Amino acid sequence: MHMMFLWIILVGLIIYLVMVEYDKKGRDVIKIFDKRCPQCNNRIESDYKYCPICNEKLKTECRKCGKIVETSWKCCPFCGENIEK
Ligand SMILES: [Zn+2]
Ligand SMILES: [Zn+2]
Repeated sequence: MHMMFLWIILVGLIIYLVMVEYDKKGRDVIKIFDKRCPQCNNRIESDYKYCPICNEKLKTECRKCGKIVETSWKCCPFCGENIEK
């Protein structure tokens, strides 16, 4: 009975390690598709409003509906208003 308990822990540990490894790979895959500043090409987080490297404005509020839009977009996806920096 004690051996059985040890096996469950061991198998659980192996699954955990495999999952951690998979998570690391998953994050690496995400890194390939990460966002870059259109101005200086440095990596930026998707929730950044300004590029911390070159101070480029990345997001702005739509003039019409007030939703947060990216300055690289041509128009607001919520109301169709043209986006200006
Ligand atoms: Zn930048
Ligand atoms: Zn809008």
